[in-house]
Amino acid sequence: MATFGNLSDRLSETFKNLRGKGKLSPADVDGTVREIRRALLDADVALDVVKEFTGKVRERALSDEVSKALNPSQQVVQIVNDELVAILGGEARRIQFAKTAPTIIMLAGLQGAGKTTLAGKLAKWLAGQNHTPLLVAADLQRPNAVNQLQVVAQQAGVAIYAPEPGNTGGEEAAPSRGFFGGPKAGDPVKVAKDAVKFAKDKQYDIVIVDTAGRLGVDAELMKQAADIRKAIDPDEVFFVIDAMIGQDAVATAKAFQAGVDFTAVVLTKLDGDARGGAALSVASVTGRPIIFASTGESLDDFEPFYPDRMASRILD
Ligand code: GDP
Repeated sequence: MATFGNLSDRLSETFKNLRGKGKLSPADVDGTVREIRRALLDADVALDVVKEFTGKVRERALSDEVSKALNPSQQVVQIVNDELVAILGGEARRIQFAKTAPTIIMLAGLQGAGKTTLAGKLAKWLAGQNHTPLLVAADLQRPNAVNQLQVVAQQAGVAIYAPEPGNTGGEEAAPSRGFFGGPKAGDPVKVAKDAVKFAKDKQYDIVIVDTAGRLGVDAELMKQAADIRKAIDPDEVFFVIDAMIGQDAVATAKAFQAGVDFTAVVLTKLDGDARGGAALSVASVTGRPIIFASTGESLDDFEPFYPDRMASRILD
């Protein structure tokens, strides 16, 4: 994965220096841990996460586990692998479906994070597994957001519930017109609530609610997202974060956790070549697992996130 290419190269380089050593001295371990620390910091992994990570690696690398191992350097690589899997959330996380349909999934995140695109990807992926998703356009801030979700819905071949484009009036609900039904209303909380009712009536089994983002975290944005969350009581709230966001990732994630309390994280733009370490810190600092990864602009560039596979890719 391009995003972690540099980190990956740096770690391989570090491990190369260990290879062939029959026994590791404490100085070898310290030197290795120092290199890992630098590589993680240079990849933008948050300092607290790096400290905890390298602390654990060092402790385990100095233990009997390594000194008694047949191949100590391989053992160190294994430890780094285990700890990477741990900071990435441990076990792979699956969608928690509601006992009674519909399962409600709300998307939250900054503008440009990739929420609308993700809504389409998720819907297409779920439709491929015999689900009947309904996309909901509750992003009424950006004039073009509703249109964009309509395009995405059409590409994904799934239904959408949206206010009439360009109408922010708050008029009576219009009857559903094929795929493009919904109320003429400017209130995203009402749109989300009505959409859930619509999904129940029409027996869609998954509701995916796209919400408005801003360029930065602000109180109004958080309140709107929190109000939507309260009104529809979702089974899942996915915090969508651009892996290229850099050092701001941790603060943004914490703000969204405090504001809307998400249940899992989706990393987008993992195909980019920016340092993705900050995004890797998000699971660790929020205690919320990464559930999906988005790796391109096409609706098929999407995959469930497996911490162990990601760790292997990084250490490849
Ligand atoms: P939103 O404002 O959060 O709804 O973000 P959008 O879904 O509109 O995405 C913002 C831009 O990022 C669009 O140009 C998308 O095509 C692009 N985008 C979304 N996800 C990815 C991804 O995984 N990789 C790449 N390269 N681009 C993406």
